[in-house]
Amino acid sequence: MKLRFFGAAGEVTGSCTLVETARARVLVDFGMHQGGPQAACKNMRVPPFRARDLDAVVLTHAHIDHSGRLPMLIDEEYKGPIHATPASIDLCDILLKDSAQIQQMDMERLARRRSAAGRDCRGPLYSVSDVDRVMQLFRAHQYGESVQVAPGIGIRYHDAGHILGSAWVEMTVEDGGRTKTIVFSGDIGPYGAALLRDPEPPPKCDVLILESTYGDRDHKDLDGTIEEMVQIMRSARTPKGKVLIPSFAVGRTQQLIYFIGELKRDGRLEHPIVYVDSPMAIEATGLYRRHRDLFDAETWAIINSGESALHFDGLRFARTGDDSRAINPMGNGVIVLAASGMCTGGRILHHLKHNLGNRDTHVIFAGYQGEGTLGRKIVNGEKVVRVMGEPVHVEAHVHTLGGFSAHAGQSDLVRWATPALESRPRLILNHGEDRQRGILASLIQERFGVEAAQPHYKEVVDV
Ligand SMILES: [Zn+2]
Repeated sequence: MKLRFFGAAGEVTGSCTLVETARARVLVDFGMHQGGPQAACKNMRVPPFRARDLDAVVLTHAHIDHSGRLPMLIDEEYKGPIHATPASIDLCDILLKDSAQIQQMDMERLARRRSAAGRDCRGPLYSVSDVDRVMQLFRAHQYGESVQVAPGIGIRYHDAGHILGSAWVEMTVEDGGRTKTIVFSGDIGPYGAALLRDPEPPPKCDVLILESTYGDRDHKDLDGTIEEMVQIMRSARTPKGKVLIPSFAVGRTQQLIYFIGELKRDGRLEHPIVYVDSPMAIEATGLYRRHRDLFDAETWAIINSGESALHFDGLRFARTGDDSRAINPMGNGVIVLAASGMCTGGRILHHLKHNLGNRDTHVIFAGYQGEGTLGRKIVNGEKVVRVMGEPVHVEAHVHTLGGFSAHAGQSDLVRWATPALESRPRLILNHGEDRQRGILASLIQERFGVEAAQPHYKEVVDV
């Protein structure tokens, strides 16, 4: 059997691994490369395998860096199934359509610039109608359900605690008369995260493919992070005070709604007024509520006490552009959760444009800010930034809170992987930059005596 790595190999995006036996070919994840011009070129490249020869595609979770190239399979005449959990399918419908629309807008902007320069332009990777067609290929499976996906290949999904519906995959592969168990970690969530259950432990296995996003460090602790957030929210309660939180529409926004609701119920934050100002975040929040069967015991305790984990008095949804603009004159510490999380688009931009110049504004960055993004520039302390084409002087207080990650830090990664590592499997580290996975590899070698392969793009591992 061969494992071919076509993404997230020495990097954190573009997840894509091909499992190949004498009788079957199964693709695990087909995500988009993100960040920088190189990423766009890598995405454009036709995948170096024939999609129509695949028996099946297995998706770990809906994040675009794992799902974002799936609609390209349509052009490649792939007609087989795409396996996923029900919540992942619902989230893909939102995220892939959003991705297609962003690509369309980017292309139009590029076309205007290039036609001025007299050059051709390449189209987007796919359209909204490709997304509609790819959605027809999805097959839903619950956690724990055994599914035969190809001749000699079966899978079982287990909760990964990373985002709603996220899974790690237990794959059994029969090849040359022997059966092997491969575990694909996908992305593993931290223990004790809001709303979601802790990641289920993996079994003994022959091969473990382990993510290593934060293989080099632990996150700040969650309680300390929440305390810091409360202090900021309290100090923003001045007549002109406002709290802006650039927030990913899926996952981070729902987590923050949960935490602010908890603070209100515990009496630590009185009468918070919170606007969720992103149509996609509003849609995703509805989806989280519909899949509440996936919530953890703490969240169910809230629901069983007659409260809602994703609602409180003072939580408001800004659905229209007018609703969003109506927030502009507000003060008294009003809190705005708006996409995009890295300030690369969305309604957060007009809030920044109107409020960055105000000393009573507090901007809280609760997630990773990619190189070159507006978010990164503000975090780096640039005094003047361009927002919607205009220079804005930054007078606002800028805060970075490090404890909200949806990814397991180093200790949680090792904690999760321990039951599998104790069976001394063949270990392959992916989904991490070389430095991060190198540090994790040394730690695992020291503690478990297991050596880790660290493949790069297009590398093949023979099992
Ligand atoms: Zn993810």
